[in-house]
This record gives sequence, structure tokens and C-alpha cells, in this order.
Amino acid sequence: MEPLLEQIQNQKQVAEFSHNFCESRLTNYTPPEIYNAYTSLIITAFPLILGFPRNTHFYNLACMLAFNGFASFYYHYYLDWNGKQADEMSMILATYFGIEGLLQMYYIGDTSQINKFNGWNTIFMILFLIFNTNSQYDYLFPILFTMYVSIALSLIYNISELYDYQYKRYLFISFIGTKCWFISEVYCNEYTQYGHVVWHALFPLGFYQLILYYDEKMMRLKKLK
Ligand SMILES: [Zn+2]
Repeated sequence: MEPLLEQIQNQKQVAEFSHNFCESRLTNYTPPEIYNAYTSLIITAFPLILGFPRNTHFYNLACMLAFNGFASFYYHYYLDWNGKQADEMSMILATYFGIEGLLQMYYIGDTSQINKFNGWNTIFMILFLIFNTNSQYDYLFPILFTMYVSIALSLIYNISELYDYQYKRYLFISFIGTKCWFISEVYCNEYTQYGHVVWHALFPLGFYQLILYYDEKMMRLKKLK
């Protein structure tokens, strides 16, 4: 049982976490963020419209994406702590499953290598989730998430080099989405606020199309084995 004072302090800490999205800054931090909330639902639509992958790891990633659309809607609508966790946890887990699938592709058939690197992937994922529950480090999420996605990017590059696959056009779409988000946060005004909306659409779209393309290729690789 925690001392009462500590409990109150902890609750206060959670209550005071900051959400600094551009749309909020323009509306004096009063929820909801209408544009950001409703455009989140497009994230759920991608797997439903484009289809689910057959590989189990990529399939799990698609489930996380389908979940993330609703979580992100909730977060942007209420801007509360539970919404933040639902949104960010599903982003972390989507990346986790993505890396798991990419490792399986890169080291196809070599179970010991797959297990070894996926072990580190699992450790990173759980540490990231735990660290992210501390509201003091709230501002570090974009940096840590970029680091985690960079690991996936280096695997995508290595796989493409190894099997001669395309990847640039898919990542370009995601890059444009990321750039728009960045512009909306750094140069926030009534026009750039829509950068976040573009981010909701393009960042998952580029990556998800790449995953579907890789999933198709993975099925062929397995047949060749
Ligand atoms: Zn958002």
C-alpha cells in the first residue's frame, strides 16, 4: 500500500502530462481535437480496405493498425492518459510485430538468428512500454519511437538489398507524412495544423503497402525454401 501523499502525487503527475499537438495549441488545449480525431479512423480503414497479410507477424501488425485508428481517435478526442497509452502502445506493438516479421524474412529458415535478434526486439519493446508509462518522460516518445522505427528501416533496407526488392516509393509516402507532422509541430499555425491530418493518412499507408508487398514476397520465399 502506497502512502496517501505519494498516491496523490502520482495521480497529479499523470493528470499534468502535456499534449502539445498543434491543433491543441490553437484551441487553448481544450479537447477535442476534431480534425485529428476523425482522421485517425483512416488508420483503421487501411487494413480493412487493402486487406490483411498472411504472415502471422505482419497479420498482428495489421491488427495493431486496426486498433490504433480507434485508440488515436479516442486520444485526440479526449486527450487523456488512457488514450495516450492506447495510441502509443499500439504503435510500439505494431513496430514490434513488424520487426519480428522482417527478421523472419531476412534470416529465413535460420531459427537461431531469428530468435536471438527477436529476443532483443522483445526486451526493447517491454522496456519502451514501461518507460512510456512514466508521464515525466512523455516528451521522449517521438524520439524513442523514431529510434525503434529506424531499426525496422535498416531491416527493410537490408532485405531489399538481399532479395532485390523495391522499397523507396513506399517509404517516400511515409516520409512525406512524417515531414508534414514535423512541420505542423515546429511551425504551428492555422494552416500547418493539417500536417497532422496528412501524417495520419500517409505514414501508415506507406509502411502498410510495403508490408503487404513484403508479405507477398515472403510467401514466395517460403515456397522456394
Ligand atoms: Zn495523431
